[in-house]
Amino acid sequence: LTVVVGSINADLLIRLDRHPNPGETLLGDSMAVLPGGKGANQAVAAAQLGAATALVGAVGNDAYADIALSGLRAAGVNLTGLVHPDGSTGVALVEVDRHGENTIVVIPGANGTMGRAAVESQRELIASAEIVLLQGEIPRDGIEAAAALATGRVMLNLAPVVELDPAVVRAADPLVVNEHEAELALSGLAVRPAGTAHEDLVRGLLDAGVRSVVMTVGAAGALVGETTDDGGASVTVVPAPKVRAVDTTGAGDAFTGALAAALSRGEDLVEAARFAARVGAFAVQAAGAQPSYPTLADELPAIRQG
Ligand code: ADP
Repeated sequence: LTVVVGSINADLLIRLDRHPNPGETLLGDSMAVLPGGKGANQAVAAAQLGAATALVGAVGNDAYADIALSGLRAAGVNLTGLVHPDGSTGVALVEVDRHGENTIVVIPGANGTMGRAAVESQRELIASAEIVLLQGEIPRDGIEAAAALATGRVMLNLAPVVELDPAVVRAADPLVVNEHEAELALSGLAVRPAGTAHEDLVRGLLDAGVRSVVMTVGAAGALVGETTDDGGASVTVVPAPKVRAVDTTGAGDAFTGALAAALSRGEDLVEAARFAARVGAFAVQAAGAQPSYPTLADELPAIRQG
């Protein structure tokens, strides 16, 4: 079982010609309400790719809860670990102008209640997981509590970057970051990499004591960093297939969920990252986050061609 402990949001996606100035009222073009949140996105991706997946997270008691959970339900994610605090569901207000430029306001709502006590209320589920997958969208003490309860492998997608106990970051297997997050993680661990190349960042994180690292680099795919038996470090570049990107929203979450799914079926980290890079490339070819994710049954041949 893969247990994701993380955020659940409703994304309010507004399209408009240009962003309003303070005090200004504009007519927009359209609004869609879509399921989102990094925890939910990654759980949906993993479940659709065949991994038995549960989500520990929180939604409020408002009308957005149903929408926020819709993708998880459709993907068959186990929701017995859901908690229901009073108050609002997490919401991301996303405004996209005609140039594709966005402004985003996130209201954590129920996600903000996922601290130590809420996470520990699901201790049996978390302890039963072979893989526990964490992100940076719930409170720090909730993330650390989940890592402490885990008896299996802990994957940490440090997005957004939050300050965590360095021991939790070092224990990540793998730590999943994009380039920007890798730089922030390095400074959080007080390590200065040998250079600014992608490989330097990955080696720097391994030097800092992180167990393994997967760094995504957009259209270029990902780098996988592992420590070798003789105490050295190996870095493998994993390409993404060339595709026409129409919307990269949630591509990192598709990648991370796919990585968890591949690891859960026993693939090694490099193999798993190759699969995840194909899934990420698949997800940039359609609009939105969860609606753009492939399913194993329908889409794997297309992904494999990458
Ligand atoms: P984030 O959105 O978290 O910064 P990245 O931009 O690194 O993450 O993208 C995550 C993954 O999505 C990449 O490793 C790759 O598999 C896929 N991806 C992203 N952008 C593209 C693209 N333009 N073409 C093909 N694949 C892409």
